Amino acid sequence: MLALVMFGMAGAGSPGLTLATEDGALLAASERAAEEWGRYGESVSVGKGGTVQVRWNPDLNLDGMPVAAAVYEAGNRIDVNSALYRPNVDCLWCAIFHEVGHLLGYGHGDDHYGLSMTKPPA
Ligand SMILES: [Zn+2]
Repeated sequence: MLALVMFGMAGAGSPGLTLATEDGALLAASERAAEEWGRYGESVSVGKGGTVQVRWNPDLNLDGMPVAAAVYEAGNRIDVNSALYRPNVDCLWCAIFHEVGHLLGYGHGDDHYGLSMTKPPA
């Protein structure tokens, strides 16, 4: 199941999570997103054995509508739509940052990359 909005999970200051990916571009973007989350006091890392798989998915959609990126309700998978993504135009790490935010318990808002942040960056 896709979940574009996820509430009621661990919340800010959670123990953190680790991303894993087989793809070079997704790896670089995941590392950049993890670094950015560190500025918000969240522990996000990237490495083999990570519990959240970051993958390309050319067919990613919600009820038939293509979506750029999404996190799954199980919390173990972030998909990015390779058919919609435009290299050097779209911010790949921003999309991963946003989806990781949902896994950390952040909802949508206007504060940072479409999320509602509970505290300013360090
Ligand atoms: Zn979202």
